[in-house]
Amino acid sequence: MRFSRLVTYFRRLEETSSQNEMIAILAALFTEASTEEIDTICYFTLGRIAPAYQDVNLGMGGRTAGAAIALAADIDPETVEAEVREVGDYGDAAIRLVGRPARKFEEVFSFGDALSVEDVRRGLMAIARAGGPGSVETKKRILAAMVAGAAPEERRYLVRLVTGKMRLGVGEMTLLDGLASAYLGSKTARPPLEHAYDICTDIGLVAKTLRESGLSGVERISVSLYRPIRPMLAQRVPALSEIPKRIGSRVIAAEEKYDGERIQAHKDGSDVALFSRRLTDVTHQFPDIVEHVRRCVTAETAILDGEAVAFDVKSGTFHPFQKLMQRRRKYRVSEYAEQIPVTYKVFDLLYADGASYLRRSYPERHERLERIVVEEEHLALADRVIATNLEEITDFYLACIRRGLEGVVCKSCADDSYYRAGAREWQWIKWKRSYGTELADTLDLVVVGANAGKGKRAGTYGSLLCAAYNREEDVFQTVCGMGTGFTDEELAQLPGKLADARADRSPARVMVAEQAKPDFWFVPRYVLEVLGLEITESPVHTCGWDPETQRGLALRFPRFVRWRHEKSPEQATTVEEIAAMFREQRGEGR
Ligand code: ATP
Repeated sequence: MRFSRLVTYFRRLEETSSQNEMIAILAALFTEASTEEIDTICYFTLGRIAPAYQDVNLGMGGRTAGAAIALAADIDPETVEAEVREVGDYGDAAIRLVGRPARKFEEVFSFGDALSVEDVRRGLMAIARAGGPGSVETKKRILAAMVAGAAPEERRYLVRLVTGKMRLGVGEMTLLDGLASAYLGSKTARPPLEHAYDICTDIGLVAKTLRESGLSGVERISVSLYRPIRPMLAQRVPALSEIPKRIGSRVIAAEEKYDGERIQAHKDGSDVALFSRRLTDVTHQFPDIVEHVRRCVTAETAILDGEAVAFDVKSGTFHPFQKLMQRRRKYRVSEYAEQIPVTYKVFDLLYADGASYLRRSYPERHERLERIVVEEEHLALADRVIATNLEEITDFYLACIRRGLEGVVCKSCADDSYYRAGAREWQWIKWKRSYGTELADTLDLVVVGANAGKGKRAGTYGSLLCAAYNREEDVFQTVCGMGTGFTDEELAQLPGKLADARADRSPARVMVAEQAKPDFWFVPRYVLEVLGLEITESPVHTCGWDPETQRGLALRFPRFVRWRHEKSPEQATTVEEIAAMFREQRGEGR
């Protein structure tokens, strides 16, 4: 497909705010796409150039892209920057500054009569691969070659792809709806695609397989090394005593719940890769875990699920989560690994010696896990008890709290206690130390807007408009405006922290009622943890909006707890969860 053709679809997607229309446009696009390019088209539509877990880094910020535009147009980089200040976007600046298509720098990058989708992929990969001395120059020239030879409208999206500013407003679930609609007749056929995506985390692979081998091919997509699996999640209950009733198993494993960072480890011989909760590659951040997995896991190939915790072996206590976050860094990694050593607490096995373990029961997975892990100081299985009644669970929970832990995760031992990738179901139930408020758990919400601060808060924000994720519809719906819980320093930092998510109008996929319209908009990017008193019905917020009563759900007395940088907006608390909490509060059960 010509890139110019794809760009016409991008334009249409950008212009619509109707979810159904978006799905129809995507379906038309996917029907037209060939098997060879459909994966690339999916990545581009989401503003990426490869699956999110592949660490493909173009190494080009706005300024370098600006310098490439200047090269293509034969003008001074400062002129480009001035234009960007005026139009607000490098993509739009490229349209205005570069004249008619003209061939340039063909020695570094050339293509046929017109740019194809494959040409663009090839060019972007060449930019990503350029390394070593002189690489910035090479990257600039490759982009300049593409920009100069592209038609004006193509330049906009080319530059936006490179600078990470695509923002078509298409989410992953909408994209899957589009695929279902194109190849399975209707968006209602999305579930098996979603399931395959949970297992392989590569939407391009799902699309390509569907195009090539149909639904049966998609159903055969299985676990593979170095392709992260979406983590299984835990449900919550209003009271500890509810756990045995809900979990659907007489025998329950209660495991220690650590407040660290979820890490999925993939081992292939002596090679090890680590993925975060957001499924990004964090191997380089934890050289110590890599070493421990290599040494302590006896299976030749394995995929483990567990939590990295900063544990002070000398004092026998866990450091708070914030301390572990200091390990999230690009530079001086080994110095920090020595200062804040991490223990990897393993609690599940997803793959071993060439076989997937997803469809095996928890007891079976655990039994194999015990056989392939040689426990040491810095790599150990999560401590647990096997309980058959509430008393045993409560005893273990209290002992965990005394040890400074966050709580417990109870796991079903029934025959069907499979590892359900990406799902939050009743086989796993978490119970955390109460925060001394009425809500048993905090919510992770996405910042979508802000109101200007007044008086003491002039110059920063007075409150943030926060939203939950509606997975079914792939939209973000507001739950509260939150202005408390921040320290003065955190408040002062807010505008800077959120600056790169600012949008000049209500972003696609954000649903805000007229009364809640904020002074400033943000594209869904930043997630924060919020504590609240209770959930009430409200005409102001769109969470779980009921068109009949014209009411949604709102969180009362929200307080900021902390930022959740390890979570993507789609991993925020869902509207369904909030609705369930609301029903529980009213004593209606789930
Ligand atoms: P969630 O991961 O459920 O979206 P969250 O990130 O806010 O929510 P919590 O509510 O604290 O986290 O609980 C679930 C998380 O607890 C898991 O994602 C995992 O990182 C962590 N965890 C710690 N110990 C365990 C354990 N033994 N089994 C499963 N998860 C555990």
